[in-house]
Amino acid sequence: MHSKKLTTPFRWLLLFIPIATIIFFLIQRPSPPPPDLSIKTSPTPPSSLADLALPPDWSLLERFQKTISQKTFLKRLQTIYTKDHSWKKWISLDESENSASIGTFTLHFSDSDQPPPGAIFPWKSRHQLDPHRALPLSGLHIALDPGHIGGEFAQIEDREYRWKDHVIREGNLTLKTAKTLAPILRKQGAKVTLVRSELQPVTPKRASDFAHPRLFYRSSEIRARAALINQEIQPDLVICLHFNGTASQTPENSQNFHILINGTYTAGELAHEDERFQMLQRLLAGTATEEIPLAQNIADAFNDYTRLPPYQYSKTSRTSQNINKHPNLWARNLLANRLYQCPVIFMEPYIMNSHPFIKRLAENPQEIFSEYAHAVAEGIIRHYSRP
Ligand SMILES: [Zn+2]
Repeated sequence: MHSKKLTTPFRWLLLFIPIATIIFFLIQRPSPPPPDLSIKTSPTPPSSLADLALPPDWSLLERFQKTISQKTFLKRLQTIYTKDHSWKKWISLDESENSASIGTFTLHFSDSDQPPPGAIFPWKSRHQLDPHRALPLSGLHIALDPGHIGGEFAQIEDREYRWKDHVIREGNLTLKTAKTLAPILRKQGAKVTLVRSELQPVTPKRASDFAHPRLFYRSSEIRARAALINQEIQPDLVICLHFNGTASQTPENSQNFHILINGTYTAGELAHEDERFQMLQRLLAGTATEEIPLAQNIADAFNDYTRLPPYQYSKTSRTSQNINKHPNLWARNLLANRLYQCPVIFMEPYIMNSHPFIKRLAENPQEIFSEYAHAVAEGIIRHYSRP
């Protein structure tokens, strides 16, 4: 018993130490994680996008691996899609690997050009039409895109011109032209779809949904039309119908005519990741190999019908360049001709705010729509009828 009495305080001490240790660790609060510095120190700037654009999925370009030679890639890039050297900031060529680095995406060139695997939907080229078809345009699906909205939207989209008692709305004129052109093309065997058939927007959004009305009529509306074309209509070509005009408040004395295809991306446009991606998608799909001869045929037919002088952009313009030395054919990067994933012919004839046009529109408007429609139809038939 004696020995027992002596050891008791030590026993209490032996019991106390582990309990105290557990309590000590329990009351310790976990230390905060170290601050995440990766956001501030990342060397990659956040990606820059065009208005209302979503970041692109670069893996969609994988199907173009080893389908194009470096020579053809550079030729298209430098004669259609760019006018200066700003692309070198985003695309670097690796001669030893026969490839190009475009951000995180690497494109491998082939030694010779292979048939391109097509755009996001397989539009038909003129070589793919049945050579024994009944009518010149049998088997061809044409989408007509009447430019702008017109009607009550003409003012907000800045496409309404008033002179004395004349009111000219571009969106109304383009719709009339589309409705005149559609039956002419159908009679030649084509399937024809109008992207818009009323004086109403395709987008469910309105100007009040945005900080600036421009985002409604110039971005949201065109993106809605692109979704309709690329996901539902999926045509073999799109004709964007427009009437040219100037900013002058008093009428011009003369008119002119030109056609735009997609191209001439500026340094500022290439800085947008979505625009770089879309440029490459068009370039690699070889859209311009169909688009350019089609545009030339339509331009030649239009000249035969109208004899309007060609419109000339300035040689120093950073946003446009002439194509194939054709007097009426120019490349510009517009949202519609960039997003629609098939050949796109963007028509820019007449001058709406000119004396001759105002007079003609007042006297016989149907004559203008008929002339425009027959000229475009003739150009399409010529293109798809040639071997
Ligand atoms: Zn227009």
